[in-house]
Amino acid sequence: MVDLFNPTEEHLALRRMVREFAEREVEPQAAEHDAKEKFNLELFRKVGELGLLGINANVEYGGSGMDATAAVIVCEELSAIDPGFTLAALAHATLFVNNLNQNGSEEQCHRFLPDACAGKTVCGMAMSEPAVGTDVLGMRTTARREGDEYVIDGSKMWITNGAISDTELGDAFLVYTRTADAGSRSFSMFIVEKGTPGFHLGQKIKDKLGMRASTTAELVFDGCRVPVSNLVGEEGDAVSHMMRNLEIERLTLAAMSTGIARRSVEIMNTYGTERTSFGQPIREFGQIQRYIAESYASYMAGRCYLYETARQLDLSKGGQRIDSDGVKLYCSTMAKEVADNAIQVLGGYGYVGEYRVERLWRDAKLVEIGGGTLEAHHKNITRDIQRIDKLR
Ligand SMILES: Cc1cc2nc3c(=O)[nH]c(=O)nc-3n(C[C@H](O)[C@H](O)[C@H](O)COP(=O)(O)OP(=O)(O)OC[C@H]3O[C@@H](n4cnc5c(N)ncnc54)[C@H](O)[C@@H]3O)c2cc1C
Repeated sequence: MVDLFNPTEEHLALRRMVREFAEREVEPQAAEHDAKEKFNLELFRKVGELGLLGINANVEYGGSGMDATAAVIVCEELSAIDPGFTLAALAHATLFVNNLNQNGSEEQCHRFLPDACAGKTVCGMAMSEPAVGTDVLGMRTTARREGDEYVIDGSKMWITNGAISDTELGDAFLVYTRTADAGSRSFSMFIVEKGTPGFHLGQKIKDKLGMRASTTAELVFDGCRVPVSNLVGEEGDAVSHMMRNLEIERLTLAAMSTGIARRSVEIMNTYGTERTSFGQPIREFGQIQRYIAESYASYMAGRCYLYETARQLDLSKGGQRIDSDGVKLYCSTMAKEVADNAIQVLGGYGYVGEYRVERLWRDAKLVEIGGGTLEAHHKNITRDIQRIDKLR
């Protein structure tokens, strides 16, 4: 028997473990951390102890050494319960840990990954800037070499885990910079740690629509000096680091979407039986049936595309760009619409916090923006599909 969603016994055991943990430990704190816009550091450390923050990192660096499907399972299961918290875990595990594991030197991996995998540090990745998002190669943050150091100047915007509180920076970041004026080899990636001279928290961004249990911050580099040993790969390598890691970033974000969709379907399914109107359960009404049935079918369609793409993704190579764009394009909007359907099925009760679907709906919107906007996916897919005559 082939189980697309749990291809091995190990994947199935992982899913069971994460689901049980999420229901027991993540659920009770989700509403409060959303309301207070607060990151749960203690919970993050527990997720680290379970080996989930280093899910794709090599075992010798303290990771679990698992594949893309495992990362998708973790994000899907956590996100069904608390997407905001999951975004913080994803930024750390995928954007920092997996990126460094794939692209960093052995010395860098030994220096940073054991603590990151264990959840002792909170890390992230800084690509977007105040004036540059989709047009990422237009970035303005620069790094110039001075002796045994690089000096970084500029600022980064919207950085998940940039802060762990209103005033305190996260611990370490992979920071994309410009090291030459023109050409695809003009970009280099550095590891920048809290406490580095010239590295500051600009602001913790407040009043977000959703994903409020994760922090988002502006980071400022003002003559920030990092040792040459913090350059990842060679000068000019950053575009290949970026492209390779974007694929798993998009898959795990899509997995957050399928988690949101699953929970929304479950909630509307239960409510459809419990709630009566005109003397019968509302699931007997054709219009309610349409919400439930279409939501389920869209969720399953997105999930099949997601796991099929994850199955084929080799983390050390990449090469699934058209489908990592495609999966996120489909699943992000699907989850938002399914959460919207759930609110509609629940009527007034869907519009308030108690039944969770309003939080899932707010959180779902981010996936249409972060890690590439819908419009960026349209652009990329249309460019990539041009090279294919016949689809498999
Ligand atoms: C909560 C949150 C967390 C985030 N976390 C991180 C993080 O950890 N690290 C990080 O580096 N970034 C992060 N981001 C940034 C995110 O990746 C960017 O917001 C996203 O890439 C879009 O960039 P932008 O906001 O500058 O919008 P812009 O790029 O300015 O886009 C504005 C609008 O114009 C459209 N547009 C732009 N160019 C084109 C085009 N060529 N064709 C058609 N339409 C176009 C866009 O699709 C969008 O609709 C985060 C954002 C949020 C909101």
